[in-house]
Amino acid sequence: MSFAPRTNPVQRAPGLRPEPGTPLYVHVPFCVAKCTYCDFYSVAAEGQDLPGALDALLLEAERRAPPRPRTVFLGGGTPSFYSVDELARLLDGLDRWSHFRASAEEVTCECNPESLDFPKARALRELGVDRLSIGFQSLEQGILALFGRVHDAEQSFAAFHAAREAGFQRVSIDLIYGVPGQELARWEVDLERVLALRPDHVSAYQLTYEDGTPLAAQLQAGAFQRLDEDQELAFFEATRGRLADAGYEQYEVSNFSLNGQQCSHNVNYWSNGPYLGIGPSAVSKLASTRFGNARSITPWRAALAAGRFPAAWEETPEPSVRLGETWWLGLRTRRGVEPAEVLRTAGFEGSDPTLRLQESLLELGFLEQSAGRMRLTARGWPVADAVARRFLEACAEQTSPRLPRE
Ligand code: SF4
Repeated sequence: MSFAPRTNPVQRAPGLRPEPGTPLYVHVPFCVAKCTYCDFYSVAAEGQDLPGALDALLLEAERRAPPRPRTVFLGGGTPSFYSVDELARLLDGLDRWSHFRASAEEVTCECNPESLDFPKARALRELGVDRLSIGFQSLEQGILALFGRVHDAEQSFAAFHAAREAGFQRVSIDLIYGVPGQELARWEVDLERVLALRPDHVSAYQLTYEDGTPLAAQLQAGAFQRLDEDQELAFFEATRGRLADAGYEQYEVSNFSLNGQQCSHNVNYWSNGPYLGIGPSAVSKLASTRFGNARSITPWRAALAAGRFPAAWEETPEPSVRLGETWWLGLRTRRGVEPAEVLRTAGFEGSDPTLRLQESLLELGFLEQSAGRMRLTARGWPVADAVARRFLEACAEQTSPRLPRE
């Protein structure tokens, strides 16, 4: 989950301590090269002080890591860019300060195909990682080139096989679809090739154009045209249909699991649960306060070296905003939302500002209610973002919201 950097002064965050078991996120901010669509904080690794950043990550872990986290997620950036020795130093250090090896039910490492071979996969397994998430993104060379990816499809398949050979039973594959010029028939063939691997989990995202990325700039400059809404919908439906046929459960708009192998770390985000992030740009949420580190290596390291708390911003949303966020996150999942529970956990008192919206969306067939939970219908899934955002708006403005376009 990423949040835009804020400027709110840090006041409460330094006094907050994570409960034992709080999920831990570790942000490794290096990649071989920057992908054109990516708005996560990361930098091209060449010329960077990788060991120095590793020292800083371990220093931050020593000061802030939660005891015995339930889940650990190494993300970025490209954690697999680190060498085997550096990964050993990172994971041994994280274990020293959190004892995650004795506690975590899931330890994920994000990997890119160009930096995952059998020795590294085996090392990660021996170091306590039990789940890999590999960024295939596409099998089409033209799309990989448009994205600025530095691997090809063969390397993606080789990385997957290396993970399996190293004993990983939980391997996820990341894909992006709905790319300008992409043909649906070709995407369906590529999806078939990926599913033939039987990954335990697939994250399949519709391409988005994030402000400030080179891809968004190219779009604005007219270098290409994005697919129209009908085309994007066709990609979405084809993707979820094929994954469902192959036995994958769509447990979140863009996430599909085989045999219940959901990503527990992300499920906690979507439940609006607490988490502790370390590394530049990493966000934490403890109690009702969300706070984030500087989105740059230099000030993040400087704060740690000076013994200062490394957060650069914090916010403690009002109960009404928390209510909207919990709806927004939960409605994008198959589990859905239990309205009374959401009110309680948001600490919201007074009449529920989402009631009218719930009723309208039920009437229009975008939502259904069963066993006390509200969730998207088949009609609602393709417009999940629009539906979920209406709850954010309804809670923020506490006014009667507009309904999503079908
Ligand atoms: S490898 Fe991942 S984190 Fe790095 S630039 Fe590409 S998409 Fe972003």
